[in-house]
Amino acid sequence: MAARVIDGKALALTIREGIAKDSAELHARTGVKPGLAVILVGEDPASKLYVKNKQKACDAAGIYVDEHKLPASTTQDELLALIKRVNANPLVHGILVQLPLPKQIDSKVILDAVSPLKDADGFHPYNMGRLVEGMALFTPCTPKGVIKMIESTGVAIEGKRAVVVGRSNIVGKPAALLLLHRNATVTVCHSKTKDLPAVCREAEILVVAIGKARFVTADMVREGAVVIDVGVNRLEDGTFVGDVDFGPVSQKAGWISPVPGGVGPMTIAMLLDNTVESAKRTAGLQSR
Ligand code: NDP
Repeated sequence: MAARVIDGKALALTIREGIAKDSAELHARTGVKPGLAVILVGEDPASKLYVKNKQKACDAAGIYVDEHKLPASTTQDELLALIKRVNANPLVHGILVQLPLPKQIDSKVILDAVSPLKDADGFHPYNMGRLVEGMALFTPCTPKGVIKMIESTGVAIEGKRAVVVGRSNIVGKPAALLLLHRNATVTVCHSKTKDLPAVCREAEILVVAIGKARFVTADMVREGAVVIDVGVNRLEDGTFVGDVDFGPVSQKAGWISPVPGGVGPMTIAMLLDNTVESAKRTAGLQSR
């Protein structure tokens, strides 16, 4: 039987409606309007598009956007000075530094300078450490969206055999931790993993984040598995595909997320969620 498709676009829209309601209620009750500082350095077209989409989503959710567009020639010290200013701005509850940054700027230095209390992307070492403890103030947006997508299927995570392919700090590792905190038995795979197909075939939940077009084929997938495809790969004809070979795999999996229209929209929704949660904490309200 063909897999059911996890419609990330529709799920994200529903979540964003809830966030817009929360945001309006927070403003009405406390006078605090959630604010996100968006920092874009340079002219990278993909980054510009991502930032535009995030700004549009913020507008729709009633989130104030503190926008900073800087030239590609910006120095690390200039960017650090801006981060210091937005860290101190009481109207800002989340800070997004769009990556990648120009090569004269060390991304790690910049991300470490963002206040852990405004770290909407959840990339600061403080939040990474708290994530290991299961107590992150901000959970990285993409893995947080992945969990919401799995939960939306109604398939219980607890006790399941989960395999995460990819171990980056922004996707693979936090996704594995979030699954572990939900009592899955988790294996993390990477480029040095031996017999990857055999490991993947054990997965009842398979999360793939490697950045290789259609890499995961049907013979690597267990019958009935929940398959979440994080990858975004641009083909020569300009179209986008995931890391999973969607057609054949969808004949074998139980649930599958598409690309586009899967994890991407959920990542943006989770950025808004993190910003509103932060604004609630600022207002002294309990976050969800
Ligand atoms: P990275 O390049 O940082 O990490 C890729 C990971 O994949 C590494 O751990 C690497 O292993 C592993 N890997 C690469 N090749 C193989 C292989 N042949 N077999 C097994 N593992 C392999 O990527 P990201 O985590 O940043 O992103 C992954 C994908 O997700 C990309 O396509 C990216 O565009 C997409 N993405 C999508 C988002 C969204 O919102 N939809 C958000 C973020 C990312 P090793 O560590 O050994 O090198």
